[in-house]
Amino acid sequence: MMNNKYKILIIEDDRNIRNIMISLLETADYQVICADSCGAGKTLYRSHNPDVVILDLGLPDMDGMNFLKFVREDSLTPIIVLSARTDDMDKVTALDEGANDYVTKPFSSAELLARIRTALRNYRQSAGGKALGGVFKQRDLTIVYDARQVFIGQNEIRLSQTEYNIVALLSENCGKMMTYASIIKGIWGYSDEGSIKKLQVNMANIRKKFGVRPGEKWYISNELGVGYRMNGVNEI
Ligand code: CA
Repeated sequence: MMNNKYKILIIEDDRNIRNIMISLLETADYQVICADSCGAGKTLYRSHNPDVVILDLGLPDMDGMNFLKFVREDSLTPIIVLSARTDDMDKVTALDEGANDYVTKPFSSAELLARIRTALRNYRQSAGGKALGGVFKQRDLTIVYDARQVFIGQNEIRLSQTEYNIVALLSENCGKMMTYASIIKGIWGYSDEGSIKKLQVNMANIRKKFGVRPGEKWYISNELGVGYRMNGVNEI
C-alpha cells in the first residue's frame, strides 16, 4: 500500500505528553512512531528513517543530547527538541549541536504543528539547493543574493556589508532559530567577548533600516539569551 504520510518519531518518556502528541499529529495526518527512551529511539530511528524527530531532552536512560549527536553524525533529519527546562543554556546547546528548533513545555498544539511544518519545509529546501534563481521572497521582503540587494516592496534597503550578511544568513536558514554563536561564527568566523554586543548593535541597525517600530512584529524575531530567527511565511 502506498503511504505518502510524513513519518514523525517522538522520543518522550512522559506517557501523557506522548499520547497528547500522538493524537495531535495523527489528526494532522502524520504517521507517528514512539519511543520512551534514548536507546529505543535510536533503534526506531535506524529501522524507520523518520522525516522529523521530536526529542525530549530529559530521558530516563541517557540525555536527549546523546540522541542528537547520534543522528547528526551522518544525517540532517530535522530534530525538534522538546524541553521542560527553562534554562536557556539547554536550548542553546541543543541548537548548537544541530537541533533545528525547540518547543518549551507546556506547548500549544498550533505551535508544535507550525514548528514541524517549518522543519519539513526547510529540510526539503536545503535538500533541493538554494532558493531558485538566487532570490529569497517572503511577503514584501525580497533578497537578491547575487546582487546582495534587499527590498521591501519596491524600496531598496541600504545595508552595510555586515548587516546584509546577517540578513542573508538568517534568510538562508528561514524558520530556524539560530543561536548567537552560530550567527557570529557565520558572519565573523570567530567570537570574542564583544561579539554578542556587536551582533545586537547590527540587528538594531537592521531593524531601524527596515522601518520597524518598537514592539512591532517583523521578519526577524529575537529570543533573548538564545538567538534570532527569520520567521517562516505564516509566522509573522
Ligand atoms: Ca522527560
